[in-house]
Parts: sequence; C-alpha cells; structure tokens
Amino acid sequence: MVPKADELPVIKSCDGCGACCQVVTRPPFYQVFQENGEEAWERLRRDRPDLMAELSADYCQSQQNGGPFFGTPCLWYDPSTQRCRHYDYRPRACREFEIGSRDCLDARRRAGIH
Ligand code: SF4
Ligand code: SF4
Repeated sequence: MVPKADELPVIKSCDGCGACCQVVTRPPFYQVFQENGEEAWERLRRDRPDLMAELSADYCQSQQNGGPFFGTPCLWYDPSTQRCRHYDYRPRACREFEIGSRDCLDARRRAGIH
C-alpha cells in the first residue's frame, strides 16, 4: 500500500546515507560521450581531463565486459566517507535529486537505511 505523504519519514540530511549513489554505477551525466552536454559535463571536460579519462576508461571497460551499466555504486562514490569524491562536478541529476522525496526514500529503503 502506498503511504500517504504525511506518513513518510522526514529526511533532513544525507549524512550517513549515500543510498542514491550506490546504484548508478557512474555519474549520471546527460549526453556523456557526445559533443554537447550539460553544464557540469562541459566544466568537467574543460577543467578535469584526469576525471574524464577515468570515466572514459571505466565506461570502455564496462563495454568490454558487458557491464555493469547500472545497479552498482557510482564510480565517484567513496564508501569510506559515504560522500561524492567530486561533489563540485556532480551531474545535474544529482543536484536535482530531492532529499526526502519518494525516490530518496525508495533508495534508502532498498539500501536498508531508515
Ligand atoms: S538517498 Fe536521499 S538522503 Fe540518501 S544520499 Fe540520496 S538524497 Fe541524501
Ligand atoms: S553525487 Fe557523486 S557519487 Fe553520487 S551519484 Fe552523483 S556523481 Fe555519483
């Protein structure tokens, strides 16, 4: 049964969570390997060729191995701190992911975080 909005727990902090980062495999940039991308992607291309190379190598390895493409922790997720290693460059999808939203609560539930 779908809970009513006022029955959902109120989440005010991402501290000790990281659930939404644990299933995307790599930073969910829009138009990752095409010419034009979202602003954060363009900034990454301009400022951090090292991160671009890391992303590209990881993607190529997945292509060769037939995956994974989803369902594993993000390449940029640091499990020891439970934070994004390159927070300033995180994609728009990560910036817009709303804490306390139903997707957030679902991610927490799947990860066993309450
Ligand atoms: S699942 Fe929600 S609380 Fe957890 S890190 Fe993501 S936005 Fe924050
Ligand atoms: S916030 Fe960082 S670690 Fe989390 S999904 Fe986005 S890029 Fe990956």
